[in-house]
Amino acid sequence: MPEGVAREAVIDVGAIEHNVRHLARVTASEVIAVVKADGYGHGAVRSARAALAGGAARLAVADVGEALELRAAGIDAPVLAWLHAPGADFAEAAAARIELGVSSLEQVRAAAAAGSRERPVTVQLKVETGLGRNGIAPADYGAVFAEAAALEEAGVIRVLGLFSHLSNTSAADDRTALSRFTVAQAAAEAAGLRPPLRHIAASHAALDLPEARLGCVRLGVAIYGLSPFADRSSADLGLRPAMTLRAAVAAVRRVPAGQGVSYGYLHRTASESTLALISMGYADGVPRAASGAGPVSIGGRTFPVAGRIAMDQFVVDVGDAPVAVGDEAVLFGDPATGVPAATDWADAADTINYEIVTRIGPRVPRREVRS
Ligand SMILES: *Cc1c(COP(=O)(O)O)cnc(C)c1O
Repeated sequence: MPEGVAREAVIDVGAIEHNVRHLARVTASEVIAVVKADGYGHGAVRSARAALAGGAARLAVADVGEALELRAAGIDAPVLAWLHAPGADFAEAAAARIELGVSSLEQVRAAAAAGSRERPVTVQLKVETGLGRNGIAPADYGAVFAEAAALEEAGVIRVLGLFSHLSNTSAADDRTALSRFTVAQAAAEAAGLRPPLRHIAASHAALDLPEARLGCVRLGVAIYGLSPFADRSSADLGLRPAMTLRAAVAAVRRVPAGQGVSYGYLHRTASESTLALISMGYADGVPRAASGAGPVSIGGRTFPVAGRIAMDQFVVDVGDAPVAVGDEAVLFGDPATGVPAATDWADAADTINYEIVTRIGPRVPRREVRS
């Protein structure tokens, strides 16, 4: 650990670059890199830059505010935003050349209202194919596509794409959604629209359902080197996890057998033992649900968290291992280096690796490296 650093998330932008390059090759598709939620906790701007360096053609985020943050950092690549506040005014988005994912007649009109013949607003039509979230409903395809075609004809919008999102429930369910997408595409064409981009696959389907690739895939978790599958690791997919979460051992204490540890004494030492204190807690995104279970690597050995994870700290019972103040404690990183995976923490907390990296809190400085 660097001197004076209590905790940090080390972000390897070289890993993101590698992952994007690898995924573009494996899927033989154009990659839209999804950098919402601060790049899944890795930093939106650095993740976007790394993804573009790795060959991503375009970027995507959930809301316009996230897209504007990329523009403010000087990122000029195409950026799509698809989740909007009720009654959103798209003037600022239009001025920043943000592509708008639109899911309703209201949103198509709001996008058009922000455009002009001199500067048409680029939209991508999002269609509902079974996920039950946003997206134009099949019953509204006719009306919304007709309006979009008229507004495109009038020169105030440009319809760049047609897209949807899959549930990953099963290959059969995703194929059903794909066939609904084909229906949506036919309806769009019947209305006179010819959107050059079509995309439906996120990481899961991009890797597992080749017919969902459509020449363009929207990849989030996989570009950060994490597997979207329960039964396949990052290494199985040729991916390198980009985030390492680590802390310095803040204190050590030699205690007798029977010592209770942390709130509720959920852990008691079985014999005389050394307790190592790690100054990171649930306020930093270390899930309290992983109390007594989350794995921590110290000095080449992996130990479970002892007892409750508190807001700011937790304890590891290292037995007789020679652990000293200042030693590095790695919660997760690239398991190819012998440390736990984010997925191990997800398993310990009964959640998914997406949530583990995304919830790393603002008190954890991110330090960028390139390997
Ligand atoms: C988050 C998101 C993605 C990326 O999903 P991953 O599973 O992380 O690849 C793609 N599309 C939409 C609509 C999303 O909300």
